[in-house]
Amino acid sequence: MPLSKTEQQHREEIVEIGRRLHQQGFVAGTDGNLSVRMDSERILATPTGMSKGMLKPEDLVLVDKQGNRLSGLRDASSELRMHLTIYESRPDTNAVVHAHPPTATGYAAAGLPLDKPLLAEIVVVLGSVPLARYATPGSPELSEVLKELIPHHDAILMANHGVVTCGTDLLQAYFRMETVEHYARVSLITELLGKQTLLSSQDVEKLMELRSRYLGSK
Ligand code: 13P
Ligand code: ZN
Repeated sequence: MPLSKTEQQHREEIVEIGRRLHQQGFVAGTDGNLSVRMDSERILATPTGMSKGMLKPEDLVLVDKQGNRLSGLRDASSELRMHLTIYESRPDTNAVVHAHPPTATGYAAAGLPLDKPLLAEIVVVLGSVPLARYATPGSPELSEVLKELIPHHDAILMANHGVVTCGTDLLQAYFRMETVEHYARVSLITELLGKQTLLSSQDVEKLMELRSRYLGSK
């Protein structure tokens, strides 16, 4: 059993992953948000309206399952409701990352899901990445739209907006964001080349078997 992290360690990890999101160009200005479920009652989230690349551990906001602030001087992310919805319907999930990585967000703005079996690794790691229909950022409607997809997907494109990923921990949720953007870039290159050779349904079936073993071992 790994030792559970202290609150300070969670704070430092969110700061570090926020910096990476910014360095990678997955967020611009004050875009994006991150959170970690620290235990069954408390969630640590990024504040609204600050650069996620320049956070300090004390900028983070601690909230309960309903989103009430328990500590912190700032208001929590405007997307807190979306994070809480994910935690509620995915007990296996302890971290959520939301960003606007340009290529994947380009697909989301084009109205295109990333659901073609182009890369073996993606089928195993992510399955497919669906497109949630547009809803106003931060609105209850956005949470409603996501609700039907969250149980089946660890990464979701949000139309005309961006991407949300979840994971058993923050690093996994962040890696999933990297993987989605990488997949979007490869997909775009195949579009530019004018040719896509998709995996056969038999190959996808074998990969899905690997996926259930891979997920079982997580
Ligand atoms: P917050 O700064 O309120 O988290 O909002 C950023 C964002 O990306 C909204 O969708
Ligand atoms: Zn956003």
